[in-house]
Amino acid sequence: PIDLNTLADEYLRLAYHGLRAKDKTFNASLLTELDPAIGPVEAVGQDLGRVLLNLFTNAFYAVQKRQLRQPVGFEPTVRVCTRRLPTGAVQICVHDNGDGIPEAVRQKVFQPFFTTKPTGEGTGLGLSLSYDIITNGHNGTLTFDTEEGQGTEFVVTLPGAA
Ligand code: ADP
Ligand code: MG
Repeated sequence: PIDLNTLADEYLRLAYHGLRAKDKTFNASLLTELDPAIGPVEAVGQDLGRVLLNLFTNAFYAVQKRQLRQPVGFEPTVRVCTRRLPTGAVQICVHDNGDGIPEAVRQKVFQPFFTTKPTGEGTGLGLSLSYDIITNGHNGTLTFDTEEGQGTEFVVTLPGAA
């Protein structure tokens, strides 16, 4: 049993400070909407932590990139939410207001080694590993919703205890 809200909060800070260690000028608003009644979640904490770290890192990267393009009038924001659905399933959402994922890229993001980042900045393994951990490892789903110029939201859904 995992305390998902604590895990999400800790990894969000970890990802943010990791990025800021490399770029001291980077600032983003962190918003958390953590369901206080979520209760314990059945998951492998280390694996789920890796998924969250990757989703958060991708989100920060996206808002950082947009900020470089649009230095004025843009407030980089990453929002994380957790919720327990009436079915007993649990969801974690990770939203960023970056540039979104272009249509031609969307069907490739879960492929191993697919990256649009410059050499040295991305391995292209984060989402394929995350997909494997969530689907095969936890019998859950990993989906996303994105709009170009608006942002992206990834959603992890874990089934409730059977
Ligand atoms: P990496 O981060 O090493 O590039 P990932 O598997 O984590 O590898 O992501 C693959 C690609 O998916 C990224 O290079 C990027 O093109 C796209 N992507 C993932 N998350 C986001 C996001 N939040 N916003 C925009 N593009 C994203
Ligand atoms: Mg990544």
